[in-house]
Amino acid sequence: MKYVSTRGKAPVLSFDDVLLAGLARDGGLYVPAEWPRLSRADIRSLRGLPYDELAVRIMAPFVAGSISEEDLADMARDAYAGFGHPAVAPLKQLGPDQWMMELFHGPTLAFKDYALQLVGRMFDHVLKRRGEKITIVGATSGDTGSAAIEACRDRDAIEIFILHPEGRVSDVQRRQMTTVDSKNVHNIALRGTFDDCQDLVKAMFNDPAFRDRHALSAVNSINWARIMAQIVYYFFAGVALGSPERKMTFAVPTGNFGNVYAGYAARKMGLPIDRFLVGSNRNDILTRFFHTGVMGMEPVEPSISPSMDIQVSSNFERLLFDHYPNDGVALTKALERFRRDGAISFGKRRWKAMCTLFQGYRLDDADTRAEIRNVHEATGELIDPHSAIGVAATRTFKGCGKSVAVALATAHPAKFPAAVEEAAGVHPGLPPRLADLFEREERFSVLDNDLATVQGYVAETLTAIRR
Ligand SMILES: *Cc1c(COP(=O)(O)O)cnc(C)c1O
Repeated sequence: MKYVSTRGKAPVLSFDDVLLAGLARDGGLYVPAEWPRLSRADIRSLRGLPYDELAVRIMAPFVAGSISEEDLADMARDAYAGFGHPAVAPLKQLGPDQWMMELFHGPTLAFKDYALQLVGRMFDHVLKRRGEKITIVGATSGDTGSAAIEACRDRDAIEIFILHPEGRVSDVQRRQMTTVDSKNVHNIALRGTFDDCQDLVKAMFNDPAFRDRHALSAVNSINWARIMAQIVYYFFAGVALGSPERKMTFAVPTGNFGNVYAGYAARKMGLPIDRFLVGSNRNDILTRFFHTGVMGMEPVEPSISPSMDIQVSSNFERLLFDHYPNDGVALTKALERFRRDGAISFGKRRWKAMCTLFQGYRLDDADTRAEIRNVHEATGELIDPHSAIGVAATRTFKGCGKSVAVALATAHPAKFPAAVEEAAGVHPGLPPRLADLFEREERFSVLDNDLATVQGYVAETLTAIRR
């Protein structure tokens, strides 16, 4: 399988090069040059497969030429074996034709594990074959750091350094990072803010000598491999609930548009999907776009669903690529205009075409709490604030009867205990495998907010390891 950049100027690459490159050299994102298609019979043949086996059937064409089907199967089995539910991505019924898919049974209790657990293994596999090693460096405000750490732990070809702002992440979030007992995991508590952490990481990447000497890399959400691994659970839900005989509607709590784009990719591959309900909190740039046709940036405001507090959804560029077919120049110009003016309409025809498939759904914090409370009272289920936005979207969706509506539950309620307890009056407990989180030993280094200090720490740590 070959991959092309959305902006049309970067080299065409194979899967393993796309995996390691992340962003394309022309600033674009990689997408498959052509899409594998599953017939209705192919889709039926997926019924009843365990999650990891279904994953191999979906992903094999995307990695063809880079990873053998046998190696892919080994990695998928290993990646999902440690999940906390035998179904991996269990479905729960909330109402007539209204379902929820729980994507929080991975090690860090959020849906990002479903891709990252596999992608960490793919990095290691490809690097070992090439005889290379990399250093992952990242900053976290609390939520994504642990998913990256769990993805990279115990991988021989990877060292990972994650910076978090000292004293500014929750105890659960910090402990999920600092109690990981693995030699290649290095936590830094920075005397500063999240923005300071991010600035230091950027500065390290912008120092070519440092970047090259230590082979710095990132596993960020624009990486194609993460999207690819997320396509799987759309098929998993579809075949469990009657595809291809029945059509599906998915409600997706959205930030960077990676998760919902993976659903769109499943549809391109043949899964009958009627509609996507794109959930947002008060940071509702996408909902406003689908309502008005104008995408306008606003300052980011904090909410009780922090993983969706975004200004620009970077993976939206992959959707735009289909609406500017083979015209990387026009797409690049449009995105530059957006960056410059802070607002853009992509033309009425394109907007209308997008609206036939995507529908925006916005819920503010008060209504999100009300949804958490109502779902708990009606069904006994505790849901987190991100998932609540998707559940509310499926509950109010008018297309029922025509399609089965599935809300993606993107985080475990125990990840956001304060908001859930305030809404439902019940404290969400950690699942059994994390119950001893507060007894485990923590390991991290506290460093000053200073580039030379942090670079020195990274360099010395790596030298000590590789000596
Ligand atoms: C990352 C995240 C999202 C947003 O997903 P995108 O792929 O960025 O749209 C939603 N909910 C939770 C809990 C997340 O961690």
